[in-house]
Formats: sequence, structure tokens, C-alpha cells
Amino acid sequence: MPHNPFRDARYLISAHRLDQLPADTGAEIAFAGRSNAGKSSALNAICEQQGLARTSKTPGRTQQIVVFPLDDAHRLIDLPGYGYAKVPESLRAHWRSVIDTYLRTRASLRGIVLVMDARHPLKDFDRTMLDFTGATGRRCLCLLTKADKLSRGEGARVLEGVRRELAANWPGAEARLISALDGKGVDDARAVLAGWLFSEPA
Ligand code: GDP
Repeated sequence: MPHNPFRDARYLISAHRLDQLPADTGAEIAFAGRSNAGKSSALNAICEQQGLARTSKTPGRTQQIVVFPLDDAHRLIDLPGYGYAKVPESLRAHWRSVIDTYLRTRASLRGIVLVMDARHPLKDFDRTMLDFTGATGRRCLCLLTKADKLSRGEGARVLEGVRRELAANWPGAEARLISALDGKGVDDARAVLAGWLFSEPA
């Protein structure tokens, strides 16, 4: 099996503001998702590291932009999770604007991974993210995770339905079914992301 470059990811910083991010050079991929969608578990599975992204349920901890460099020129970015009832509307509005600015202005951003629970895909937050990515011309890979909770037939139906909606509304986006639990689809997702990060010089 070829070397997995994401295994080299390590924790660097939790940023509260965009000016705390590393210099906007090289190449990075940002992960977004509703709280509890399975974003941390997907990141850990892709990086083959158990405790890299914290699968914490504490709202405060998730309201940060967490940076995981692979090397000097390549990074994964974990965007704040959404959907905690406890997060006040003012804070939500703040993060919406931070993420909007990030998506519009970050030159090194090669694409977005939108993690969704395969049992509840394309919620309002996901549609908003897809609108952002569409409007800013960003590539988007939708990872429908927790596939192990669905039968094969159900999984195939969900994937087909999501792909149909993407094609109709957000043609730049693609979708994959994965499971962080049994590893289904993870190699394939990793290959897509490695292509984004490493196919062009950083
Ligand atoms: P986050 O809030 O989006 O970072 O979500 P987490 O990664 O913390 O996952 C939320 C919950 O879903 C946790 O209880 C995980 O153990 C569970 N989970 C995440 N991914 C999977 C998966 O692929 N399969 C199953 N069965 N459970 C998962």
C-alpha cells in the first residue's frame, strides 16, 4: 500500500480568527459539517490516527478553526461544527461570516469536504455550505458517513439521491459513501483529497 500522506498530519493551532491561520501559501483542504455528523471521525480515519481530531461534544471546543499541517506546504483545516442548540445566534452569525470570508478569500484552499450523516443528508447547514462553495467556485466532496448504519441497498439509494440533487443544484460537488467505523470508502476519499492537494504544485 502506498504511503498515506495524511498520516503525517499533526495538530498545530486552534484559531478563533482568520488572521491566526498559517500564511496563505501552499495548499489546504477544509472539513465542514454539522455537529455530530461524524467529521472528526472521518478526519481521523483519513489520517489513520485515532486521536487527531477530537470527537468532543463540548460546544466551546468546536467553535475554533483547527489546523493540521501534513508538512510545510500542505494542511487540513477543521472548520467549526454547527448545530449545537447551546450556541447563541450571535455566535452562529459570527462563524457564518468567518467561514464565508475564509471560503471567498483563502488562496491556498483547494477544496471543501462536507461531512454528512448518511442517514440525514443535505440539511439546511449543508445546503448553505454547498451554496457557499458553489458561489466561490470551490470543489466540494460530500462524505456521507456512518454508512455502516445503513444496509447496502439503503446506502446505494442515499448516494444516488444525493448525487442527483448535487447534479441539479451544485454541479461542482461530488459524493462518496464512507464509514469511519469499518473503513468503507475511506481509501477512495483519501485518494480524491490527495489528488486535490498534491496534483498541482503547492
Ligand atoms: P463530529 O461532531 O462531526 O466531529 O462527529 P464525531 O466524529 O464526533 O462523531 C459523532 C458520533 O458519531 C460519535 O459518537 C461517533 O462515534 C459516531 N460516528 C462517527 N462516524 C461514525 C461511523 O462511520 N459509523 C458509526 N457507526 N458511528 C460513527
